[in-house]
Amino acid sequence: MKLLLATRSSHKAGEAARILADEAEGAPAVLALDEAGIPRSEAEDGLEPHESFEENAASKARYFGRLSGQPTVADDSGLEVDALGGRPGVRTKRFAPPGRYPGLARDEANNQHLLDLLDGLPPGRRGARYVCVACLFDPTSGDTVHFRGEAPGRILTRRRGSGGFGYDPIFLDEETGLSYAELSADEKNERSHRGKAFRALAAFLRE
Ligand code: IMP
Repeated sequence: MKLLLATRSSHKAGEAARILADEAEGAPAVLALDEAGIPRSEAEDGLEPHESFEENAASKARYFGRLSGQPTVADDSGLEVDALGGRPGVRTKRFAPPGRYPGLARDEANNQHLLDLLDGLPPGRRGARYVCVACLFDPTSGDTVHFRGEAPGRILTRRRGSGGFGYDPIFLDEETGLSYAELSADEKNERSHRGKAFRALAAFLRE
């Protein structure tokens, strides 16, 4: 069985593929959009307008599932920071205001914006969690099923490590004392929001 993974992020696709492959034999192979030869279109930019990870994941899974006719899983994920009342949440990807950090790529600008907003806050007030919702869409039945994974942590005061992607250099795993960018790929997947969501998806597909 092949699952279409509705993402243009090679990082997300790589992690999801590895998490599923690490599950028992018979786990489905995943094909990211680019690998499946699905060309990028402008419509894709408008697929995440909702206020919940569940709705955004379903919107992406339905769109690409109908387009391809294949069983499709979409990952919508982000960061909820306690001191910001749960923001950026579903706006995690576009957190840094446009033009605020000239010369910085999007991930870098997002990290800097978060560090700036939390500047001066003590460790005890820097709690956060990563959230990932994987939505599976079956184009034959039209059914969707959601799998949510959450990973607790804390926002650091400076970047640490070079692995992972996105906010990983400033997201601390308190159990190991390491940032997500200092964990190996397997260590990150063991603990991460994406690991939890995609292992739940794998268990569902096995049943
Ligand atoms: P999405 O494409 O709307 O799901 O955007 C996800 C946002 O959350 C992007 O800014 C990602 O960089 C960030 N994000 C999601 N998962 C991770 C992760 O595992 N590590 C670091 N950042 C992540």
